Amino acid sequence: MTAEQVRITVFDTTLRDGEQSPGCSMNHQEKLRLAHQLDRLGADVIEAGFPIASDGDFEAVKAIAGVIRRPVIAGLARACRPDIERAWEALKDAARPRIHVFLATSDIHLQYKLRITRDQCLAQARDAVRFAKSLCDDVEFSPEDATRTDCDFLCKVLEAVVEAGATTLNIPDTVGFTIPSEFGELISTIRRRVKGIENVTISAHCHNDLGMAVANTMAAIAAGARQVECTINGIGERAGNAALEEIVMAMRVRRDRYPYETGIVGEQLFCASQMLSEITGVPVQPNKAVTGRNAFAHEAGIHQDGVLKNPLTYEIMTPQSVGVPDSKLVLGKHSGRHALNIRCEQLGYQFDRRALDDIYRRFVRLADKIKHVEDHHLLELIRETHKPAASATPLFESMPTAVAAAASVSAQESQRFPLVPQPNAFGLPLPVPTDQHHDQEDYLWGV
Ligand SMILES: [Zn+2]
Repeated sequence: MTAEQVRITVFDTTLRDGEQSPGCSMNHQEKLRLAHQLDRLGADVIEAGFPIASDGDFEAVKAIAGVIRRPVIAGLARACRPDIERAWEALKDAARPRIHVFLATSDIHLQYKLRITRDQCLAQARDAVRFAKSLCDDVEFSPEDATRTDCDFLCKVLEAVVEAGATTLNIPDTVGFTIPSEFGELISTIRRRVKGIENVTISAHCHNDLGMAVANTMAAIAAGARQVECTINGIGERAGNAALEEIVMAMRVRRDRYPYETGIVGEQLFCASQMLSEITGVPVQPNKAVTGRNAFAHEAGIHQDGVLKNPLTYEIMTPQSVGVPDSKLVLGKHSGRHALNIRCEQLGYQFDRRALDDIYRRFVRLADKIKHVEDHHLLELIRETHKPAASATPLFESMPTAVAAAASVSAQESQRFPLVPQPNAFGLPLPVPTDQHHDQEDYLWGV
């Protein structure tokens, strides 16, 4: 196989790790809606939840497994029988089920959290994987807190679970502690030392506590990892997970250095990002790479001039390649329902006929008053017409593309249509154990 053909499996954990982050819990219908979008996006694996954590999680995993048939559907389980049985119960009707078993391996977790010895940990990991394998062919194992685990012991555990039937070994940087050179070395060491490693897929799962989740993930791929675990908008525990859209676009834009393929449909990235933001009510930070509303906005005159002459002067990727609506197609009073529908879809909304009719009527009235209906007008209108049940929070702001911004809309326009104040991404409340998961032991949380 040449470097050109190396295929990276994209494992999306927005519905599991992402959903665990403060303010990001989703109800059943919202999870299903997002799962459909992840399917359209081309994710290879969707981690749909943690079935033993709550009845709601169980039902969501089961429902997703029942209707989303192309990707692998994974469910998380601690390394014990009841968790694994519950996960399997939720997953067994999936077209392609995967049980994801995890157990902490670092001394600090063994001593203070689990209160077991290394030998007990090794035996528990092996037994759990063996049991999972008796139910499901596709078993992933994660040694939680791998990056702070003694390397010899880590390799020993990995070897034991490979022997017990694990097909994917996920290496989590659970606490966001590692740095790219170190994480790359760890993956290389595992590849060199673990017997049977050539028959399994190595995966990376990075957290962003030091802002290096994506960089660490890329280092892992360069060192031989072939699965990446990531989330839309990088949501996840504490500072979040590696952002799916950033990993994918790094590979596309820098193919010279990262000659790898994924199955991700780039044009669906923006829609996925907006949909998640809408569902959770957590806005995307404006300067967020790839999907933030400023990611393709050019403010400085010299930049605007350059972009108008040739976008390549300041753009390393086009807005269209990540699905940012082409605002050159201006919506006005002569636009039909079809154009309106397409634009709504690009912004992350799908409406049935009746809802669309309603929005269309309002749209025509607005278009009569103002000449051009920009995305942010449309979003205001959608918000007024169609208030999502679970979220009273304003959802997202318009995203001017290079041309729209260069054509001068943003500053004046956004004053005429002031945006409702939104909770800043950095002003979120501290994690409070309030949601349904927390009736379990305090070490439920996963990798
Ligand atoms: Zn995680």
